[in-house]
Amino acid sequence: MVTADGTFALFSRIRRASAGFLRAGAGAVAACALVTAFGLASLRAEPKPQSEYPVATDARIEQSGDVVRLTMMLSSKVEANAWVQSSPDRVIVELPSTNFQIQPNAKRSAGFVSGYRYGLFTADKARIIIDLSQPAVIARTETRLVRGGFGELTIELRKVGRPEFLAEAGKARPPEPAAAAMPVPAPTKPAAETRRTIMIDPGHGGIDPGAMVATIAEKSVVLAFGKALKEQLEASGRYRVVLTRDDDRFVSLADRVQAGRDEQADLFISIHADSLVQAQDVRGATVYTRSERATDAEAAKLAAKENEADSAAGLETSEEVQDVAGILMDLARRETRTFSGVFARNLVDKLGGSIKMHKIPLRSARFWVLSAPDVPSVLIELGYMSSPKDAELLNSPEWRGKAVTAVSAAIEDYFARERASVGQAAEIRR
Ligand SMILES: [Zn+2]
Repeated sequence: MVTADGTFALFSRIRRASAGFLRAGAGAVAACALVTAFGLASLRAEPKPQSEYPVATDARIEQSGDVVRLTMMLSSKVEANAWVQSSPDRVIVELPSTNFQIQPNAKRSAGFVSGYRYGLFTADKARIIIDLSQPAVIARTETRLVRGGFGELTIELRKVGRPEFLAEAGKARPPEPAAAAMPVPAPTKPAAETRRTIMIDPGHGGIDPGAMVATIAEKSVVLAFGKALKEQLEASGRYRVVLTRDDDRFVSLADRVQAGRDEQADLFISIHADSLVQAQDVRGATVYTRSERATDAEAAKLAAKENEADSAAGLETSEEVQDVAGILMDLARRETRTFSGVFARNLVDKLGGSIKMHKIPLRSARFWVLSAPDVPSVLIELGYMSSPKDAELLNSPEWRGKAVTAVSAAIEDYFARERASVGQAAEIRR
């Protein structure tokens, strides 16, 4: 299999060297980030436990004439802030962290509102995102205390012409919180750490549910998988495992990539479970690596969809990790690509031996979350939630156990190969 073995040892050295180089290059940026981080430290210090969040229990949406009104009942009065965004056209309502317990069969559309969703956006903020099929502006945002100490949140929207909507969308709004997207601060890799670091990235989360089929959300399926994989890897004692999220929260794509780099991860594994509306018979798992040009149209479409995760949460500005130019960097990136490929093939081998794979199980496309130049990264689509058979399996602990064991075996193989090549190199030098 390729020239992987021979270059493994070299790769390790390049990665270490280039990691230092990259950090030095990013000094100015880091200094700025530090100022911001200090400013935000108090905000992020102690996220409240979820049990202390206000609970939203009841939602109603109704239309009368040109107006659509969304009303939500909460266990206490909360402050809300709302604004409109264009392309895609929608209304973002921001409130403190909220535990949404809305009846699942609640009506979700009325008039020009084609739907709405909600969830945690950061450790201390929640969002309701209202999708508009026609332009509208916010006529009223109100939270009032009602009998029994409950809070009632009302968002009233009024249909307007496109120019008025665009003028409203162009107005200044609260700056995107840089902390928003920050994952729970995890301990960075200790200097004396000898175990391999595996970064597991359960896709989506919080306000971004990912694919939805009936009441099952991709974000929950992949979180359960990520946690099970972490448990199994840690049990071996050979790995230090870090999750980009370990609860139902939103993490931006840039922060997922950054988390892998900050932890100096040896492997980054993003977990997803897609859905194809028009093809319920498409089944099986697929392993993806990053490439500028997609291997096929389906892969390109999937990457585009996954790359929209930030936009689903109402984050407007998304930029890929800034590339640092340089020979060392180019070398690192090329090697990273090679090793992502080696690991991806390992995964297809091991997964193929125990679960159903897609008919083209190894593909690549321009996935943003796989863009770290110095961390070998792959994305696993566990299966298709749109396939009734896959959906059943994805929720079965037995299936999950089999798939987790296969991924662990692929990781094991990958590092065994590396150990062997390092041994060989030592042998030659003697
Ligand atoms: Zn996904």
